[in-house]
Amino acid sequence: MDRRDFLKKTGAAAVAGAGMAAAPAIARSTIKWKMVTTWPKNFPGLGTGANNLARLITEMSGGRLKVKVYGAKELVPAFEVFDAVSHGTAEMGHASAYYWKGKVPEAQFFSTMPFGMTAQEMNGWIYYGGGQQLWDKAYEPFGVMGRPAGNTGVQMGGWFNKEINSLEDLKGLKMRIPGLGGEVLKRLGGTPVNLPGGELFTALTSGTIDATEWVGPYNDLAFGLYKAAKYYYYPGFHEPGTILEALINRKAFEELPRDLQAIVLNACKVVNMDMLAEYSARNPGALDQLVNKHGVQLRAYPDDVLQQLRKVSVEVAEELAGQNQAAAEIYKSYNAFLQASRKYTRISDLAYLEARDGR
Ligand code: CA
Repeated sequence: MDRRDFLKKTGAAAVAGAGMAAAPAIARSTIKWKMVTTWPKNFPGLGTGANNLARLITEMSGGRLKVKVYGAKELVPAFEVFDAVSHGTAEMGHASAYYWKGKVPEAQFFSTMPFGMTAQEMNGWIYYGGGQQLWDKAYEPFGVMGRPAGNTGVQMGGWFNKEINSLEDLKGLKMRIPGLGGEVLKRLGGTPVNLPGGELFTALTSGTIDATEWVGPYNDLAFGLYKAAKYYYYPGFHEPGTILEALINRKAFEELPRDLQAIVLNACKVVNMDMLAEYSARNPGALDQLVNKHGVQLRAYPDDVLQQLRKVSVEVAEELAGQNQAAAEIYKSYNAFLQASRKYTRISDLAYLEARDGR
């Protein structure tokens, strides 16, 4: 055997040996995680966003960390997702933070605020404005980490069976509207109800509720909400850039090797960007279908109604800030970022959009 053959053979043997030795090690290190969600399984945008997150983690880790997704009610009911991740029933969750207002009132700041920040601003605040540190602090007592993992962009105002011409029309209205938007409606004489998405259509058709908001054209079309209500209002003042959160059990996360930890966190970032891109791509076509195919009546909230809604929204946010020390600290940070951003977006995004439309 000459030297070259020898090297080839031993080299091949070394590779084969390494492969044989590595195989059991890979098998031993396969970790299986469960992800519970507040969405119906495979629901467009939200449920598929959760699926993407699980798939990315599984793929990026070469199958070392396998994540299996459970739709609402498959493992736990929609509104028990936070507790399930906190108690370790599941290692991950996909939801939105305002669903936990009964448990962690200040969590609502990490979802969305009526007349608050847009998706772009939320990302700025969370990633570079101190928001993430405050979020970590809020969830720490529960052994949970929250990360942005999707954003809907500006939502729609909602579905009504009567026109909203004045504040009077909100009085006595029983509407599915989560978070602080619901509190705003309550102050104006309405009755907010919090229902998981999967129950909206039945509640609206059966008359259990008079009106509902959900997300935007892409998601609302998928639920067939146009079959249950005639008027579709904008803008979604109550949800201007809602973050969908990935919930991660802190202990399970800390037990992961560093590379898998990086994969989990970066997969959240990828899905955060991807979901917003998907909504941006799908909403315009879906709105066109709703209006032109299904005869939905598109309406803008009257200016004086929006003005009042804005006034009450500020009061509600300030009251939330007064509830505890953590809420006060988060609101201070949130509001400082919003006010600074506002000055800039006026001469950037807003000025540009107006110029583009020739206004
Ligand atoms: Ca909504």
